[in-house]
Amino acid sequence: MVDKGGFYEVKPSTMNNALTIKQAAELYELSVSGIYNLIKAGKLVALHQDGETLLSQSALESVLVGVCPVCGERFTKGNQRQRFCSQSCRQKANRSKPKGASR
Ligand SMILES: [Zn+2]
Repeated sequence: MVDKGGFYEVKPSTMNNALTIKQAAELYELSVSGIYNLIKAGKLVALHQDGETLLSQSALESVLVGVCPVCGERFTKGNQRQRFCSQSCRQKANRSKPKGASR
């Protein structure tokens, strides 16, 4: 038996920030099918490992977490069009937009 050495089994420790679909859904308060839709739409990249579909947390955050332009809070986007953390911030943003002529 000749041990050639230098051969290490690399454990996928780089995946320490990966979440299963179910964990991601719970964490970001989305449905599992909503997450799958994002993957299908190409917004999220899924990784496959041991028969499990995993998502990297940083990728999830970049897609699902937005920063409200009104108050600066971070919030979870319920859908891709959501830009403000709440209804009231959205109204504030709309109200501050000058429109029409004033006298
Ligand atoms: Zn806000």
